[in-house]
Amino acid sequence: MKTRTIPADRLRRIVAEITEEMAAETERGAVADYIPQLAKVDPNQFALVLVTGDGEVIEGGDAATRFSIQSVSKVFALALALGKIGAQLWRRVGREPSGDPFNSIVQLEYEKGIPRNPFINAGAIVVTDAILAKSKPKEALGQILTFMRFLTGDNDIAIDPAVAKSETETGFRNFALANFMRDFGTVTNAPELALGVYFHQCAIAMTARQLAMAGRFLAFGGRLGPDGPRAISERKARQINALMLTCGHYDGSGEFAYRVGLPGKSGVGGGILSVVPGQVSIGCWSPGLNPVGNSQLASRALELLAQRTGWSVFAHR
Ligand code: GLU
Repeated sequence: MKTRTIPADRLRRIVAEITEEMAAETERGAVADYIPQLAKVDPNQFALVLVTGDGEVIEGGDAATRFSIQSVSKVFALALALGKIGAQLWRRVGREPSGDPFNSIVQLEYEKGIPRNPFINAGAIVVTDAILAKSKPKEALGQILTFMRFLTGDNDIAIDPAVAKSETETGFRNFALANFMRDFGTVTNAPELALGVYFHQCAIAMTARQLAMAGRFLAFGGRLGPDGPRAISERKARQINALMLTCGHYDGSGEFAYRVGLPGKSGVGGGILSVVPGQVSIGCWSPGLNPVGNSQLASRALELLAQRTGWSVFAHR
């Protein structure tokens, strides 16, 4: 891969153009309504933020509005769990795309309670269970928040309690997944404790600017910038990027790789974190989702960004 470094003023123009085009879009998808609190979000919002290797922040739209990061949190939880227990994690969760919806239970029975990958709900619950280990849910959540604050360099990151409560009251499918995996032994804590941490982790609220900052470690080989402090090893950063490319958009992962060609992770709050290794970390957000649960406009905006910059992990020059 060889990705082009593009002058900042050109990047600013591209981001401004895309933001303007997205504001004019009428097909904005539908906000997630299976978590009642998310159904209240105004779909007419959009943000696109790039953080470059020089630390420059280039942003368009509602870059300072907080949203529920939901499944994007699974990337940070995975990095934390790999840092804590390393490759042992892979005994309990796989690394293959599932081709099934994010909350699917069907494969779990055939595959003996081992979820396909850490980004479908079942896999993410196992990752969170590994972070929880024998500690208290409050401690595990504290570790996740501390890690997020370190990655963003911003202490102003918190959990939205209304979203966590809303999902705790309605997350029947996730309870089914966790109980099923507890029976197989892939979830080791009491399911309600693992889920308590999982729901709160998904309910972390961040701005697109904070999200782009948090993704720097994946854009810069495990560091918070080309010469920044290290968050994880370079090897782990590559491995997480590979999983984002192949599994980051549920059963829309192939389509995202085809259209955008960059590692990315989406969440049902409408956020997508994407990175151009060696160049930029990208936070993009718009609450309306396409039929497979990925942000309609954020997916489109990233496709346009890749087209206009020439960025792709498959680029030859
Ligand atoms: N908390 C959500 C759930 O478990 C996350 C799903 C997502 O963002 O895709 O249903």
